[in-house]
Amino acid sequence: MKNIPQLPSFLFFVLTGFLTIFIAVRQQHSANEGAGRTSRKDRVTVLQQEDWKIMADTMVENQLRAKGIKDERILSAMRSIPRHVFVPAPLRANAYEDRPLPIGHEQTISQPYMVALMTELLHPEAGDTVLEIGTGSGYQAAVLSRVAAHVFSIELVQPLADSAASRFRQLGYHNITAKSGDGYKGWKEHAPFDAIIITAAPPKIPKELVRQLKEGGKMVVPVGGREEQVLQVIRKRKNKIVVEKNIKVRFVPMRHEKR
Ligand code: SAH
Repeated sequence: MKNIPQLPSFLFFVLTGFLTIFIAVRQQHSANEGAGRTSRKDRVTVLQQEDWKIMADTMVENQLRAKGIKDERILSAMRSIPRHVFVPAPLRANAYEDRPLPIGHEQTISQPYMVALMTELLHPEAGDTVLEIGTGSGYQAAVLSRVAAHVFSIELVQPLADSAASRFRQLGYHNITAKSGDGYKGWKEHAPFDAIIITAAPPKIPKELVRQLKEGGKMVVPVGGREEQVLQVIRKRKNKIVVEKNIKVRFVPMRHEKR
């Protein structure tokens, strides 16, 4: 019986204690926001951004530099581009791995090393205008856009062309112009190009694209059938093709537009 009057005062102390801590935490929280610091939502975004930056950095060091990619402009471009934005949402966690990934419509985003290698072989100068055939996810175009002046990119599959274009807008890559169409025809209005890169494999080097290449210009193209292809680096000299390099590779075929 003696203890009963003590119970309410005990409860009173416990409750006021909790209340004081709660108010203090709330005040600290709003003081942080009031002082212009990041809100919780912003902090989450910043954290995720730091995560992908670390992954992109690791990709560049372990998959590109370690395998012989030397051009610092390309390495820094690939460090700065959020590759996870270019892959379907369920595969985002795999975006920085050294392998191609499916992007729908039976197409793939190329392996980071292949993107770096093809860009290094093409070796665009800062003032160059580049034509890409096979926009796909848009990742290769994004890399080119960081090292060249302007990139024109053509994709046969309309929905892929549309989503790539919206990625370029979202990321502010304004020096890429993309359209849906048949790459075999090139893009006459903007020709001739300093450099042309084809990221699907035609059975032989498309003549019209050689026509749209500047004298002295370079083309990187995987040539061959479904089973065997060679990545050819060619140069246009006095309207003739000089093959500078051949590397064995595997790409999806370059197809003809359905009529
Ligand atoms: N460069 C892309 C990957 C390319 S996959 C990237 O970075 O993600 C090859 C792409 O070439 C596919 O999207 C395919 O639809 C496209 N393609 C095939 N034939 C084509 C053609 N004739 N013209 C334009 N694009 C073509």
